[in-house]
Amino acid sequence: MNNSEPVVDSGRSKTPVRKVFRHRYIQRLQRRHFFLFDVIPLCSLLLLIPFWDYLRPGFVDISLLVAGWFLTGLGVTVGLHRYFTHKSFKTSKPVAFLFAALGMMAVVGTTYWWVGIHRRHHELSDQEGDPHSPHLHGSGFWGSVKGFVHAQIGWLAGHDYPNPNHYVKDWLREHWLVRINRHYMLFVLAGLLIPAGIALIFEPTLQSALRGFFWGGIVRIAAVHHIVSAINSFCHLVGTRRFNTAEHSTNLSILAIPTLGESFHNNHHAFQTSATFSHRWWEVDIGAITIRVMEALGLVWNVRRPHITRPQKAAEKSAAATPPKP
Ligand SMILES: [Zn+2]
Ligand SMILES: [Zn+2]
Repeated sequence: MNNSEPVVDSGRSKTPVRKVFRHRYIQRLQRRHFFLFDVIPLCSLLLLIPFWDYLRPGFVDISLLVAGWFLTGLGVTVGLHRYFTHKSFKTSKPVAFLFAALGMMAVVGTTYWWVGIHRRHHELSDQEGDPHSPHLHGSGFWGSVKGFVHAQIGWLAGHDYPNPNHYVKDWLREHWLVRINRHYMLFVLAGLLIPAGIALIFEPTLQSALRGFFWGGIVRIAAVHHIVSAINSFCHLVGTRRFNTAEHSTNLSILAIPTLGESFHNNHHAFQTSATFSHRWWEVDIGAITIRVMEALGLVWNVRRPHITRPQKAAEKSAAATPPKP
């Protein structure tokens, strides 16, 4: 347990609550998750060298990979990020369940873990305690390289665990969410087996099922992990800054499509509770478009949008935006 971490008042009970935990058992779980869902998927790409003829993707396999990226990617950006972390819109329980399920099928941790980590990132962005800042690893070229590797993948091997009683207290009252979080591994398994099952429907052979499992499951997990991590690394290192926010967040248009709009990260840090990260017509934010379509269909409501004041608009670059609290 980390004793140097300050404690905070827990509210009515007056019992101090630790903000993060550091425990050998939690670190072992983190290392296991890192090995199973980061190291193995990445290394399994090497199987393509000896088994290319067996694993060569067909139209169905590529479609499963793209559909898997799109759906689980939406689960992360619209579900875990914009809805559960920042509450940038309201929705019904079935839609919230769907987003939580898709987010966990991306294998980026349970809903509580992801929301806790991300709220801590906003609280301490690029300062000591930020779980995945690329700016805390020394200066110069090698400091940046070390920071990049940490933000892209290294931090997942072991980090402080955000205390749900502090960071995710608002969601702990939702018993249905507590229940499905306990079954995280079932969602992980579903994300691996559903593409294998769909591939079987198109071609009922073992080879087809294995190809669906490989491309729609394993390769998709590796791709989505690195796309999500690119926000932590690239979008705090390179790109443009429209708003002079307190941390080093950037906008990086080249990643707009793969990240489904997340790469307008400087816009997001400036207006954290906004459901849209796009502030210009050319900033394509597929997550925001999805929310807009769902709003038109009556599936989501009370959608929050950025409120840019005139002085902010006139001097975007020089005036610091005053971000609403997450
Ligand atoms: Zn950030
Ligand atoms: Zn955020």
